[in-house]
This record gives sequence, C-alpha cells and structure tokens, in this order.
Amino acid sequence: MKIIQDLTIDEIATELEPLNLKKYRLGQIFEWINNYKDFDEMLNLPADLREELKKRYICKPVEILKEFKSQDGTIKFLYKLSDGELIEGVLMKYKYGNTLCVSTQVGCRMGCSFCASGIDGLIRNLSAGEILGQVLCVNSHLGGTIADRKVTNIVLMGSGEPLDNYDNVVKFIKLVSAPNGINISQRNISLSTSGLADKIKKLTDENLGITLTISLHATEDETRKKLMKVANAYPLEELMSAVRYYYEKTHRRVVFEYIMLPENTKHEDALRLHALTRGIACHVNLIPVNAGGSSKIKPLSKEKETRFWKALHDEGVSATTRRTLGADIEGACGQLRRRVIKDGLK
Ligand code: SAH
Ligand code: SF4
Repeated sequence: MKIIQDLTIDEIATELEPLNLKKYRLGQIFEWINNYKDFDEMLNLPADLREELKKRYICKPVEILKEFKSQDGTIKFLYKLSDGELIEGVLMKYKYGNTLCVSTQVGCRMGCSFCASGIDGLIRNLSAGEILGQVLCVNSHLGGTIADRKVTNIVLMGSGEPLDNYDNVVKFIKLVSAPNGINISQRNISLSTSGLADKIKKLTDENLGITLTISLHATEDETRKKLMKVANAYPLEELMSAVRYYYEKTHRRVVFEYIMLPENTKHEDALRLHALTRGIACHVNLIPVNAGGSSKIKPLSKEKETRFWKALHDEGVSATTRRTLGADIEGACGQLRRRVIKDGLK
C-alpha cells in the first residue's frame, strides 16, 4: 500500500481525481495527514471518503516503539516502519526550539569507521513520507499540530547518507516546508553529508534555503580515507570544490563537522583546516567521539580537545565543541537500533 505522506497535495489531487472531490476536501485531507491522524479520526470527511482513503493508503508510516529520556531533556526515539524495520531519532531541546534529528535510510552504505549506522551496510532507503513521518509523529506525540509546532528545527543527521537517497530527501525537504503542511522553514533545516561532491553540486542547483553541513573529519586524504570509505570516491580537493560552488552560489554559511580523534587533531590539522576553508563563511563543530562501547574507537582527552580548539581559534577558524546531548541514551546515530536488534527492547 502507498504511504499518503509520500505525496504532495497536487499528487493527492491527481490520484483522487476519479472521486470528483471538492477542492476544499483536499485541503482537509492534507491538514489531517500532516497532523498525523488516523483516517478514522478525520471527522470532517464523509465516512465513505475515509473508507476509500483507508483502502488506498497507509497514514502512519512511522510509529514510536519506545522513547528514552535523558537527564538533559534529550529524547531518543525508536521507531517502527510499516514493514517492521527499525530506525531511530533524537529530539534535542534548545532555548530557541526543539530540533529533531531524522534518519534518511535504514543503515548506511558509507561505512565510516566510527559510526554504528554503517556496520551492517545499507538495508534500504526511506521514502520521503517515511522521513516526513518521523517529524509528524514526534510533533503529534508532543502534543503539537501544524498550527502549533513542537518540532521547530530539523537536522538530517540520523542514520543514513541523505545524498545517497537524493530524490526522496529533496522531496522530503519540499514536503516538510510546504505552506499547507507542517511548514518548517528551510532555514531551520540542516542536511549533513559525508561528502558526495557531485550531489552537493546538484543540491546547490535546487535553490533550497537549507544549511549544508559537511562531515569533514580530516584535513588530508590519507587520514580521511582511513576514517571514511567515501573519501576514496571523492578526494578532499573535489569535495571542497563542490563546497565552494555551493558557497559561491548561495552565500550561505557552511558548517563542518569534525570528530576529534588522536589521528586528526595535530597542530598541522588546524593549519590545514584553515587553508581548506579559506574564503568560505563557515563554522566548525568539533565533536567528541561517542565510542558507544567500541574498543576500536579511541576518544581524545579533554585537554587535547581544548588544545585543538585553541589551535583553530588561533588560526581564526570559527569553531565550537558540540555539547554532547543524550550521551547516556546511546545518542550517536545507529547505536540504539543495533542494540535493540541484538538484545531486544529493554
Ligand atoms: N551520513 C551523514 C549524516 C548522518 S551522520 C553524515 O555522515 O554526515 C551525522 C553525524 O554524526 C556525522 O557528522 C557523523 O560523522 C556523526 N557521527 C557518526 N558516528 C558518530 C560517533 N560515534 N560519535 C560522534 N559522532 C558521530
Ligand atoms: Fe553513514 Fe554518516 Fe554514519 Fe558515515 S557517519 S556511516 S555516512 S551515517
């Protein structure tokens, strides 16, 4: 069965043409599905129309299986998809609003050495409606509606590589920012990519208003290749040329994510990071690695983290160390799903 949130209002109109509906009915349907209600709850629709919709579509593609609340207010969600696959998400509470971290794929085929999402490879892509479903489901779970949003910001930083699921992700961004839907401004959406240079250029040409975040994690190809297999396909020179294309065309500030490890935080790395980003308005998020129980991942000492930040600061690179939210609830992407699959829900 089709997922109704996969469709734009115009696509729903086309599919329902044979029913000869009045135009306002489409608006009502679109509002209900974005408020994440069951067809049975759509009380201003005639009963026969509700039955017809029920026959055709799934209206809740994502359901919360369990939530884990952290001391700091962060909530981690374990979701179930309509085919039984599990994905996860994190809601972070900030002064300016609530940010939901969404997944774009079940698993990931990029296989970065520090990341739990890539361990089993790619299981499947999420559809646009399954990505949107995460936002609508959490918004409704928190008592929000499309008129009174409880989710105000979105980061595409859950499991999966967004640009490896390009069409669905772009459609999701359009659906989630649609004026007659939940209408989250594209300015409040960040897309994080491990660096698929050709897709970054393509994304630039979509003229979206989102923030581009690049998972850089190293300043030269040798180290980057050891951490991220994707660096074999897209060397830094090609990646940074795509980032420059994006910056020159959009003039939007770029964010670089940088996991701090012993092998990528030498003094020369600070100098190279400065050189790589010269001329691009940007900010570097320094991330203390979440080892998630793996003995292969060696976190950096607090002292060395501060030293690296200071070296960047001295070079004039804008950088901050990211607050680690939800460290007690398997906050890094992919960790919770893997444990639940292995050990069951506890
Ligand atoms: N695939 C995309 C988006 C999802 S990953 C990307 O790689 O950018 C989102 C962020 O989480 C990335 O910056 C990634 O490097 C980071 N991440 C993954 N595993 C982590 C870990 N164990 N500790 C800290 N950050 C991690
Ligand atoms: Fe995939 Fe991102 Fe994890 Fe790398 S860090 S394996 S690209 S989800």
